[in-house]
Amino acid sequence: MCRHLAYIGSPMPLAELLLAPAHGLLTQSWAPRHQRYGTVNADGFGVGWYASGDPLPARYRRAIPLWADGSFADVARVTSSRAVLAAVRSATPGMTQEASAAAPYAHGPWLFSHNGRIEGWPQAVEALAASLPPARLLALEARVDSALLWALVLERLATGDCAGDALAHVVNSVSAVTGARLNFLLTDGTVIAATAAGDTLFWRTGPGSVVVASEPFDDSPDWHEVADNSLLTATAGYVDVRPIPTLTKEQV
Ligand code: GLN
Repeated sequence: MCRHLAYIGSPMPLAELLLAPAHGLLTQSWAPRHQRYGTVNADGFGVGWYASGDPLPARYRRAIPLWADGSFADVARVTSSRAVLAAVRSATPGMTQEASAAAPYAHGPWLFSHNGRIEGWPQAVEALAASLPPARLLALEARVDSALLWALVLERLATGDCAGDALAHVVNSVSAVTGARLNFLLTDGTVIAATAAGDTLFWRTGPGSVVVASEPFDDSPDWHEVADNSLLTATAGYVDVRPIPTLTKEQV
């Protein structure tokens, strides 16, 4: 994904969050303002959101550009949510173009997105892939680096890591074997964890709400840029940013 966004706060129509803002994800799909790699994000998009009273998110993912999907515009107008994770994709060369490769990826209450790429894919990460149970590898949603990264994050969550620790662990373990850009976004609808590791990241709070995004969706002065190599964790109205912890060889 080349531009992504997560929101937690009072219920917000998806259209108001993603389509209406002057520089929202819709505009970012053809005219991003801060994108460091690639020019347009036309290789699909995805939106995950939580409906009230249901801990499991719903997803809407397509292989077409966000601007080309009139059905989503309709759904987004009449759907509100208290927690959303959405992304528009610029596929890394060699990765599949299918809707299954569009973030967010999901498991249980979790939604995940990756903005970046693994250098030397897939040979460079053979050892990491081999560390996964075969069933996890067979269950990868798509032939794309982001799907493998998601499987690695899920392994950490399964061992009991909190969201931020899981992301930090995977940034460390991938960086130990190859170059990579690893901007992650992860939420369970209550907490957002994100990394800035090679690409841009911003956040903004409002009364009882927080947005974390690859880039600001408007010109409000309330946006804060996150320094590279940072780990962000947020809940509605609260944000913590710190350097990504460095793990020792034994820990990764
Ligand atoms: N490598 C990922 C993909 O192909 C993410 C791409 C990106 O961030 N531009 O989907």
